Amino acid sequence: MERQLSDCRKIAAERGWHVAEEYVDNDISAYVGKRRPSYERLLEDIAAGQRDAVVVYNNDRLTRRPIELEQFTAICEAAGVTQLIAVTGGLNLGNDDGMFTARVLAAVAAKESARKSERLKRKAREIAESGRPNGGNHRPWGYEADRVTVVESEAEVIRRLAVRYLAGESLASLTQWLQDNSIPTVTGAEWHTSTIRNTLTNPRIAGLRSHNGEIVANAVWPAIITPAQHQQLVSTFARKTSSGRRVPRRYVLSGMLRCGTCGGKLFSSVRRETRRYVCMSGPDHRGCGRLTIVAAPVEEWITEAVLLRLDSPEMADALAGRAAADDRSVALNGELQSDQEQLTELAELWSAKAISSAEWKAAREPIEARIYSISRQLGQITGGNTLSGLIGNGNALRESWATLNLSRQAAIIAAILDFATITPAKTRGRAFDPFRIVPTWSR
Ligand SMILES: [Zn+2]
Repeated sequence: MERQLSDCRKIAAERGWHVAEEYVDNDISAYVGKRRPSYERLLEDIAAGQRDAVVVYNNDRLTRRPIELEQFTAICEAAGVTQLIAVTGGLNLGNDDGMFTARVLAAVAAKESARKSERLKRKAREIAESGRPNGGNHRPWGYEADRVTVVESEAEVIRRLAVRYLAGESLASLTQWLQDNSIPTVTGAEWHTSTIRNTLTNPRIAGLRSHNGEIVANAVWPAIITPAQHQQLVSTFARKTSSGRRVPRRYVLSGMLRCGTCGGKLFSSVRRETRRYVCMSGPDHRGCGRLTIVAAPVEEWITEAVLLRLDSPEMADALAGRAAADDRSVALNGELQSDQEQLTELAELWSAKAISSAEWKAAREPIEARIYSISRQLGQITGGNTLSGLIGNGNALRESWATLNLSRQAAIIAAILDFATITPAKTRGRAFDPFRIVPTWSR
């Protein structure tokens, strides 16, 4: 990677180009379809008119799928960027021949990639049907790293988990049992109910080889439980999951409340027909489990506090901050314009032969660097503001609050509330005590 970078820098230097920014996506192949953050940033910068040339190491570092190449060149064309240079192959996408060659190369690369993945898929299917194991980062629980030899101590645990689960014991209780006995997972992480579910429903522990979710062969490794037990486990999990009542999102403060006793997150829960936020103990939550508060009055109180805060002097200050930013951007735009005029003037002097090429270049460089820096600053100032239109409008918002959907309400609250701590109740009783709520405002 370092060598590729220095080759690119050399090309830029040869042409006398100022390197405005280097975009590096380490080890992310363009084939895989994973997101490439730096590449995306490059596209944004080109589209925003902040770049006038691009040097890439190899055309295939840039785009590998034909559709990506088309998008890339379309963005360049729209922004008037014509200087595109590849270190290897010397591709110049700026003229039609270069563009055509690049298209052919991209098409060939895509075909090769598709062929390769087709070959890999066939191979994987073949291995599965012969009952042999897959590769992977971690060994499966119950088996050695060869994925075939049984680890007897773990196999015993699996059998006990299966029997106890089928006998009606809850996943939470089984998780606790593993934790209490300091039995580690293969990664050394703690057990969750989901880890147990994945282990117990995996056909592999019944000596069955699955491929893409379908059992295709008897495995070459020994079974830990019987195929009949496996079937029972799968259907029991399916039954319990479908009968578990899923409560629709009715908790506007989800994720925004903390337990004043242990600092853990509060979770939403219905207890005795009433919506509540509670601190949950147990393997999936790990709170102290000793704090609970009825949801409706907290939601009402915090909503009211948020709306009042939107109309508060602090928020007016934030608004003033925005106004100051607007002033700043007017000033920056002024500078930008005068720099650009100066560049035009220099170009005219050069074409009138009043200055030499070298003089022109020397005079140009500091101005271009300044333009680049101003553009950056402008980009930062005009970046998105989640609170736009809300500040100073708390009162108006109150009228329409009930008509907003829950996720919109939650977004508005989250824009100014970092989190709220709920302290333990001082007295036992049903009355709501607003002093239990300690908000931490983010603005
Ligand atoms: Zn707690």
